[in-house]
Amino acid sequence: MSLIVQKFGGSSVANVERIQRVARRVVKTRQAGNQVVVVVSALGDTTDDLITLAEQITKKPSEREMDMLLSTGEQVSVALLALAIHELNVKAISFTGPQVGIITDKFHTKARILNVNTVRIRKALKEGNVVIVAGFQGKTEGEEITTLGRGGSDLTAVALAKALKAKFCEIYTDVDGIFTADPRLVPDAQKIQQISYDEILELASLGAKVMHSRSIEVGKKFNVPIYVRNSSHEGEGTLITKETKKMEDVVVSGVALAEDEAKITMFSVPDKPGVAAEIFAKLAKANINVDMIIQNKTQTHSTDISFTVFKNELSKAMPVVRQTAKELKVAQLTCDEKVAKVSVVGVGMRSHSGIAARMFAALARKKINIQMISTSEIKISCVIEAGRGKDALKEIHKEFGLGSGKKV
Ligand code: ASP
Ligand code: MG
Repeated sequence: MSLIVQKFGGSSVANVERIQRVARRVVKTRQAGNQVVVVVSALGDTTDDLITLAEQITKKPSEREMDMLLSTGEQVSVALLALAIHELNVKAISFTGPQVGIITDKFHTKARILNVNTVRIRKALKEGNVVIVAGFQGKTEGEEITTLGRGGSDLTAVALAKALKAKFCEIYTDVDGIFTADPRLVPDAQKIQQISYDEILELASLGAKVMHSRSIEVGKKFNVPIYVRNSSHEGEGTLITKETKKMEDVVVSGVALAEDEAKITMFSVPDKPGVAAEIFAKLAKANINVDMIIQNKTQTHSTDISFTVFKNELSKAMPVVRQTAKELKVAQLTCDEKVAKVSVVGVGMRSHSGIAARMFAALARKKINIQMISTSEIKISCVIEAGRGKDALKEIHKEFGLGSGKKV
C-alpha cells in the first residue's frame, strides 16, 4: 500500500461542486488501495478577502492576529472536504496544522516549518481514514498559530510528503502542468512531462508562476517527487524530480518572461577597488534584492554600472542609490522601468554549446535590442525593451523547437 499526499489549491475548492469533485478524486485514489493525506487551501479568494477585511480596520495589522485570521480559511476547507468524503461513504478526518504538530519558527505570516510530528496522522491513517490537513499553517513551540506565507499550502504538502515518506506529492491546480512557456503568451507552448527541481526553481524565480518556490526547494532537499496536475481532469501533469541523464538531452526546457524588474544605471562611477562593494552593500543593508549587474571598464578612469531591482522595491532602492551616487560623485543616474527580461532554462546547457548565440540570433531576427545579459549554468537571461517581451518569448520558443513538442 502506498501513501500519497494530494494538495488542492484554492481554485480547486472554490465552491461546493468543486469540493465534491475533489472528494471524488481523493476517494478514487483511496479506493485504488492507497493511503491518502490531503492538504487543502482556503476556498477560492478567501485569503485575499480576509486580508481586505483586516485592511478596512487597520493599515498596520498585528502579524500574530493576521495569522489567527488567515488560518481560519483553511480550517473551513478541511471540514467541508471531510463532510464531502463522508457523503461518499469513506472514512475521513480533518485536522488543522497545529493539531497534527506542524511546528514552525516564530516569524508570524512567514514562518518556516521546523518539524512535523506524524504520530496523529499515522494513527488516523491506520484507522482507515483519509487524513485532511489544513495547508499554510502551523504552530510555534509556544502554541502560537503561524502561517507560512502566501501560497504556503504547497509547502505543507511537500513537508508532509517528506515527513510521512510518501511515494509522491501531487499538487492539483487549475492548469495541466508546467509548460515550455506561459500558454497565454505563447499559444503553442507544450506541457513538459518531466523537469528537474533546479529548472523549475529557475523558472519560478524568472516569473513563471507555477509553484511556491520554497516548496520546490524542500522537495529538492529531500528528493520528494512532485506531480503538478489539473484537478478537473485525469491528465498526467508534470513530474518535478531530481535530474536524470536523459534531461540533459534537452538543451532548453522552458522560456520565461519577467516584467517586474527595473534597470538602474550609474554613469562614470570612479573605477577603483571598493566602489561596487559600497553600492551593493548599501542596497543589501536596505534589504533590496538586486538581480542582474553589469559593469564595463572603459579606457578612462571611470566605469558605468547597470543593475536591476524589482519594480516594487524601486521606491525603496532609489533614495539609497541617489545618496550613494552623490557620495561617489557619479556623473549621471538613470532609472528605466520599461524593461522586460526573457530567459531560457535547461540543464542541457551544461553539455551543449551555442545556446546563447541561438538566443541572441532569435532576438536579432525580431530586431530586438539586448540591453543586459546574464548567465548561470542552466540559464541565460536578456533584458530588453518592455513591450517586446511577448515577441521575444515567441521567437526564442520557436528557435529551440519547443512549440512542436520536439525538443532540440
Ligand atoms: N490560502 C493561502 C493563500 O492564498 C495559502 C495557499 O493558497 O496556499 O496564500
Ligand atoms: Mg489561496
